Amino acid sequence: MYRIGQGYDVHQLREGLPMWLCGVQISSPTGFVAHSDGDVAIHALCDALLGALALGDIGHLFPDTSDEFAGIDSKILLARVVKLVREHGWDLGNADITIALQAPKIAPYITDMRECLASVMGVDPSVVSVKATTTERLGFVGRKEGCEVWAVVLLERH
Ligand code: MG
Repeated sequence: MYRIGQGYDVHQLREGLPMWLCGVQISSPTGFVAHSDGDVAIHALCDALLGALALGDIGHLFPDTSDEFAGIDSKILLARVVKLVREHGWDLGNADITIALQAPKIAPYITDMRECLASVMGVDPSVVSVKATTTERLGFVGRKEGCEVWAVVLLERH
């Protein structure tokens, strides 16, 4: 008994804002414009988890018109989504995340990101993959206007 889900998110970059990715703060002159902390990677992961069970999306669960979610740590949103998934009778098999960002380089943060996401989701880091790529200076990612993230998850019935 398996379900698969995919999620996608984009956030705009602006100078002087904090940059959070996969629950880890990245040292960067630019960060994400957002109602929450702007963790675009966690948002894509949440949408993949919700998508696997056809439970809608995070915009539906945590509306950006609600003051409750203003500036919220996205790890809290992820924990709530994972709880919902478990309540529906499913466990995470594995997750695979691809982050497209021109700068800064996020390779040095990958281990911390995997450990952080695994700890929030209550799984082993070996089932959480985080990959990073640039877009060779092409498109809005290449022009450093934003960051794009794709996430895929497999759920197993418990
Ligand atoms: Mg988002």
